[in-house]
Amino acid sequence: MFAPLLLAVALATPPAEPPVRPSVILVTLDTTRADHIGCYGAARAATPTLDALARGGMRFEHALSPAPLTLPAHASLFSGRVPRRHGVRDNAGFRLDPEVPLLAERLAAAGYTTAAFVSAAVLDRDAGLSRGFAIYDDNVRVGDPRAFDYQERAASQTVDAALSRLDALKPPYFLWIHLYDPHLPYVPPEPYASRFPDRPYDAEIAFMDAQLGRLLNALKRSGTTHYVVVAGDHGEGLGEHGEAGHGVFVYQATQRVPLIVTGPGVAPGTTVTSNVGLVDVAPTILDLVKLAAMDGADGRSLVPLIRGARPTPPDYEMETLYPSLAYGWAPLRALCAGAYKYIAAPRPELYELPTDPRETRDLLQPKAPRAAARAAEIAGALDKLTRDDTRIVAADNVSHERRETLSALGYVSAASAPQAGGIDPKDGVKLLADLDAARRAVQLGDPKDAMEPLKRLLAKNPGNVSARLVLGQAQLAAGRADDAIATYREVAAIAPNNALSWFDLGNAYAAKAANDDAAFAEAGRSYERALALQPRGAPTYLNFAALHASRRDPEKARQTLLRARQAGVADPAVETELGVLDMARKDTAGARAAFTRALDLDPRRAEALEGLGRLAYGEKDFAGAAAYYARALDARPLASLAKTLGAIRLYEMNDRAGARAAFERALALTPADDPDAPELRDLLADLQRSP
Ligand SMILES: [Zn+2]
Repeated sequence: MFAPLLLAVALATPPAEPPVRPSVILVTLDTTRADHIGCYGAARAATPTLDALARGGMRFEHALSPAPLTLPAHASLFSGRVPRRHGVRDNAGFRLDPEVPLLAERLAAAGYTTAAFVSAAVLDRDAGLSRGFAIYDDNVRVGDPRAFDYQERAASQTVDAALSRLDALKPPYFLWIHLYDPHLPYVPPEPYASRFPDRPYDAEIAFMDAQLGRLLNALKRSGTTHYVVVAGDHGEGLGEHGEAGHGVFVYQATQRVPLIVTGPGVAPGTTVTSNVGLVDVAPTILDLVKLAAMDGADGRSLVPLIRGARPTPPDYEMETLYPSLAYGWAPLRALCAGAYKYIAAPRPELYELPTDPRETRDLLQPKAPRAAARAAEIAGALDKLTRDDTRIVAADNVSHERRETLSALGYVSAASAPQAGGIDPKDGVKLLADLDAARRAVQLGDPKDAMEPLKRLLAKNPGNVSARLVLGQAQLAAGRADDAIATYREVAAIAPNNALSWFDLGNAYAAKAANDDAAFAEAGRSYERALALQPRGAPTYLNFAALHASRRDPEKARQTLLRARQAGVADPAVETELGVLDMARKDTAGARAAFTRALDLDPRRAEALEGLGRLAYGEKDFAGAAAYYARALDARPLASLAKTLGAIRLYEMNDRAGARAAFERALALTPADDPDAPELRDLLADLQRSP
């Protein structure tokens, strides 16, 4: 009788301490197609990190994104809801409803330390995904200037930022890392660019994979028990169906994403082939760490699949409003039901995915009775799911203004009578050659060449907001500020909730504002509208400050940039400008603080290094000044920086060898026909003669 009693006591004794929950690392790979990763069968991929992760855990062969757009897809991943239910239908002009519950909030409430490191401005905290994160590092304007106007940072920079905070994260923690490299433009760093000379997209993926490896190795060394979940947000068209990027279509090229889960209890090297979705990620993570399910999620926990069960998969919805909001075409909706995918478009489509994964054989063209019946069945299910879409878009998540925009673009009416009209994106995509030609002309500095293609396009497609924005840019670049103003006013009327249209309108007025009081006032009003929609829009503050500077009002410029700081903008360009303005008003302490802040955000900001060099020079700290100029020159190879460095070394430090090196650098950076070149050559000859 003795032993069973002991056993009973032992069984009844609770553990002395509640077990610490495992940590969770979520990595989202932007614009990453599953079929460009080695473990998904891409023979020519260089993705050893992801391949090893799949060998150590569970790989989902058919993971589906609900939208081909970064912000809507991420909002689905964190809320477990499809876009029509979380309300973020596009990257621009939408903000997540504060009532929608998010994964990070749930984990934080359960005692997790939460930290996020994102790589692109589209996931700026203003978009609403920062809720629940104690650390939300969206310091993205430090990246390669060739990429997206400084609106993104490279995987190496994001991983560096995360690693610098890793020791401070107390387990259990929830760490989200977002990597953006495979997004356009493809500018892979070496050695990846040379290794994949004709495949820059794959080179970006290889670089990102290597950086992910660096992160995961550091986590392994830290020894915490953790799950790693890696998911793509959407793929990339790469020319399939006529789409280079993503957003226009909902074909598998952009909707099928990688999804890999590893961690305690996940059998290594396993694969699930049935459909799963990004909406399942948040419910799965909560289930893995034994927390209650998400409120109102459309997705389901994949833990039963991880444990070996094979339940019948539900249907998965997809949508894109981008064709409608950007181009004035019909929006698209789709439903994946088992082997079939139905796309609701003006000309609907039906595909059988297992036999036709690239969706090249539309079963409704020509329509066979069996396919028509299957299509009608799935269309009925989709209609039933999305019947209340109008109500949700109109009443819950969207302001009155936004509703008017949507209805002006034909969306809300299209939602109540699905896809009744509008250009089918399959036809519309053929119009985009003219838009691309116009964009190229503006980029190459030939804005007049943009007019003809845009005129042709807008005659066929007057609701194309993107074409009107490019038209405004072309007009402004061609010196036709008044025409640009008229164009942007139209755009702002169609898309009043898009901060970009007000920003562009402000820039058009600013072009005339130097001697025109009315234009100056309108420019200010337009920038204010943009800031009301995007209160942390660093480029808007910078241009607004430049507007005041153009009116010779440096104090107003400074006040505008201080306002940015007060609004929570942490931006290296804003801090650098503040430093320059403080230097001009002889506030050296303020200037030093601002330049130092700029360098905290971006250690290679050349103008801030130069500013600190000038301050040091002013205090006769010549060695300090030379050191700053040398760093500035390393960050940005400019002849002017090299010349100043040479002059300080020669005249203030009597360092002739150092001066020679700097002037040689200056000469190398000076074009041969530049008037400065002979002078530099003479100087170098002098330095060589007298040691
Ligand atoms: Zn994305």
